[in-house]
Amino acid sequence: MPRIRSTAAARARLAKAVEQHPFPKLPRFCVFCGADPKHGNKEHVIPRWLIELTGDPKRKAIMAFDRFRQRATAFSFDQLQFPACKACNESFSRLEDEAKRVLQAIIAREAVAERDLSLFLDWLDKVRVGVWLAQLYLGSPLLNVQPKFHIASRMAVADRMAFFSFLSPRPGLTTIGVMSPMFMMMPSAFGMYINGVAILSVSTHGFLSRRIGFPYPVRRWALSGRGETQMQGPRDGSD
Ligand SMILES: [Zn+2]
Repeated sequence: MPRIRSTAAARARLAKAVEQHPFPKLPRFCVFCGADPKHGNKEHVIPRWLIELTGDPKRKAIMAFDRFRQRATAFSFDQLQFPACKACNESFSRLEDEAKRVLQAIIAREAVAERDLSLFLDWLDKVRVGVWLAQLYLGSPLLNVQPKFHIASRMAVADRMAFFSFLSPRPGLTTIGVMSPMFMMMPSAFGMYINGVAILSVSTHGFLSRRIGFPYPVRRWALSGRGETQMQGPRDGSD
């Protein structure tokens, strides 16, 4: 059986092939609604308040990985700004203010009301989809993913959960799992470490509905070539 080896020469050939036949570049779109953000402004997909809460805003982090050149690409958190309509940006700013208050309570190990947890799940949806769109903008030559949804159409629409693990309280911010090919294809789960709290965010249609007695899809399948999933159901959840 032939051994498959990744040599420097093979990687260089692949890199050249990608340069000669690149995937189409994503058009400019608003990360919230997907429309062309004429006269738009910029959205920090990792919010500025969170960057400041966890360390030096100018620090660099590995935010993309070039698989052909086997090279990680570092950006400062502050650079992660992407196009957004002015109106969209303003309509989401209140959520940021409220999420900051809830996160600070979580970091301080204080009790959090049910309403605030629900709001925090909305915010995790926003950050997860925002980071995914940012990854697509930054580019991964292995995959040609054209986004079919954006933050506004994917927030608070599917079953979701957040799992919190409390570690020793060291300042810092890390995103987990966002550079994997799986996340690029299906941004349903990611993790974050924020000042001593590790958070796992998961959201997908039908994830919890069956076990809590709500209608649920009985079958789902990919529509070939269209990048969409179709579901059969729902079943009423009584069984
Ligand atoms: Zn917009």
